[in-house]
Amino acid sequence: MDKFETIAGFSKAKESCPFCKTPLSFQLTNYIGALGGLPILKEPLQNDRFLFKLEKQAVKSDVCLLAGSNTLMFDNFTNGELPNIDEHLVKKAFDEYSPYLELYCPNEKCDLGYSICTHPLAVRKKHPVMGMFYVDPIKVFAESIHFDSYVVVNCWEKDTTKIYSSTNEEAKPIVLPALDFTAMGKERLINRIRILVTFS
Ligand SMILES: [Zn+2]
Repeated sequence: MDKFETIAGFSKAKESCPFCKTPLSFQLTNYIGALGGLPILKEPLQNDRFLFKLEKQAVKSDVCLLAGSNTLMFDNFTNGELPNIDEHLVKKAFDEYSPYLELYCPNEKCDLGYSICTHPLAVRKKHPVMGMFYVDPIKVFAESIHFDSYVVVNCWEKDTTKIYSSTNEEAKPIVLPALDFTAMGKERLINRIRILVTFS
């Protein structure tokens, strides 16, 4: 499980939280806001599509992203005078949002904030239709949990687990061979990580 042809395919990558078994929720989100407040994007999938407004300085557009075909449509982004330039600018603004997909445990009582996220969506032009783009196949980036002041990240491609301190962002993460969240279960996983951070 590291690559999916479509957004819809990735949305079914994992059914439920490995710890509390709650069905995972699915959204389009981004990191930008996380650095300085709330994420700008937090869009749920509705009727197999994400619908939202993109707004970045002078660039404004309605966005429709179809999960089954990875088709991305920008609408109302140009007054018609310089449509090619406006299309270029809106695509650039979308890239700068760096949106990615996330499957996450919505159960607040679960307490581990389990999520699986993808790399930012890569968008390209396939047909010369104004405002129309396609999203490349979806690449999984990592699954993660957080508890106490630790963020524990399983990096997909490298087969490693990294433990970050959320109170000391300067500190280098602890890197170890991948921990299997599902096989370990909540208690063993938490104990193991507490021991690792204590003795590292
Ligand atoms: Zn959960």
